[in-house]
Amino acid sequence: LSSEYPVEVDLPAPKELKAAYDVVIIGAGGHGLATAYYLAKYHGISNIAVLEKGYLGGGNTARNTAVIRSNYLTSEGVKFYIESVRLFENLSNEFDFNIMYSHRGQLTLAHTDATVRAFRQRAEVNKHFGGHTEMIDRQQIRELVPSLNLDPGHIPVLAGLWHIDGATARHDAVAWGYAKGAAKRGVEIHQLTEVQDFVVENGRIRAVQTNRGTIACGCVVQAVAGTSSLLLNKLGIRAPIHTYPLQAMVTQPFKPFLDPLVSSSALHCYVQQTSRGELVFGGGSDPYPLYNTRSTLDLKESLLAHAIEMFPFMANAKLMRQWAGITDMTPDYSPIMGLSPIEGYYLDAGWGTWGFKATPICGKTMAELVASGGKVPELIAPFGLDRFSRFQQVNEMGATAASH
Ligand code: FAD
Repeated sequence: LSSEYPVEVDLPAPKELKAAYDVVIIGAGGHGLATAYYLAKYHGISNIAVLEKGYLGGGNTARNTAVIRSNYLTSEGVKFYIESVRLFENLSNEFDFNIMYSHRGQLTLAHTDATVRAFRQRAEVNKHFGGHTEMIDRQQIRELVPSLNLDPGHIPVLAGLWHIDGATARHDAVAWGYAKGAAKRGVEIHQLTEVQDFVVENGRIRAVQTNRGTIACGCVVQAVAGTSSLLLNKLGIRAPIHTYPLQAMVTQPFKPFLDPLVSSSALHCYVQQTSRGELVFGGGSDPYPLYNTRSTLDLKESLLAHAIEMFPFMANAKLMRQWAGITDMTPDYSPIMGLSPIEGYYLDAGWGTWGFKATPICGKTMAELVASGGKVPELIAPFGLDRFSRFQQVNEMGATAASH
């Protein structure tokens, strides 16, 4: 471990649970902790309990592959993610704590004419809103990533979408930074505390029931990612969320050779090298819905076959770890943020395979929503749950695929 590697976070010892809080946040992943942090630091609201059924940052925040980018397809999506990338760039200064933000650029490969056309559109939308993205040709790709095979078997690379703002960061440090900053300002983080049911009176949330007793609250923010639909079911809220495992894996470390993040949606594979030299790769979701974090041989075989098509020398690499998270997928591949049919119950869900990069802007906007007593910030207005009944989906499927 290098000296800049954050190995320890000082958090105040947990207190007894109080009988009531102004705000209860369910889930101490990056999103829940970020919401608590922005509420305490920028809105002066710190009578907050963050309730976590496991341990701090142990959900998808700990399991993701930390791709940070804003090169989405829709104007709503691009505007939102661009703000998140901006916040990420300054997060180590904001925390006075190193999140190991690493600006790499992200290269997405086009293997068909249709993909080249879609990439042109994404580059233009991204530039329009202040992002940095351009189309590059085979020669430029070769110069950027000399070790990449440009002619994998049946689908040669035609061009690339070069997203200069693409980056990565240490995901645990993001959770720890928010937790530290929130706790310092009086927020209580209670681990091993599971929300099991709710008390709703006259259409308004009044309390949450936990394995440690009932807690009254002014309002609730639900930020539980993979188990979003389970809590929504308890409240009788219908949402089009389906839950799928998503797997990733990592090899032994190599000397640094791969600076950009590289992905191919046609090969359903993305690869990046961590600051420790390991190669991380991931692909698409498992083919059937499941609430489970097991790894499978099927996925390992298919993903590795594609990874080796992209980087043939990897055939000799040793795999060190494989893992999975459970992801709350929406039909349009955009999140569900904002109000719910229950007054005072705010939603931060539907983050599927793409929510790590949104952690800062999600926390900031959810804090604005809570602090204003339910006035939805403009940036997240397109992502409300009611978009599905108004047929106003924000379709990001084509820009999410295997790029995360
Ligand atoms: P989490 O970190 O999952 O936190 C939710 C917390 O809620 C958990 O700690 C859980 O224990 C707790 N909880 C659940 N139910 C209860 C309850 N009833 N009571 C109390 N606590 C509860 N996104 C990207 O942007 N880039 C990527 O490269 C990327 N790669 C990914 C790769 C993989 C393999 C996976 C699985 C996901 C990936 N994602 C990526 C998605 C990203 O990880 C998530 O969208 C994001 O981490 C969600 O953060 P969160 O804080 O909402 O959820």
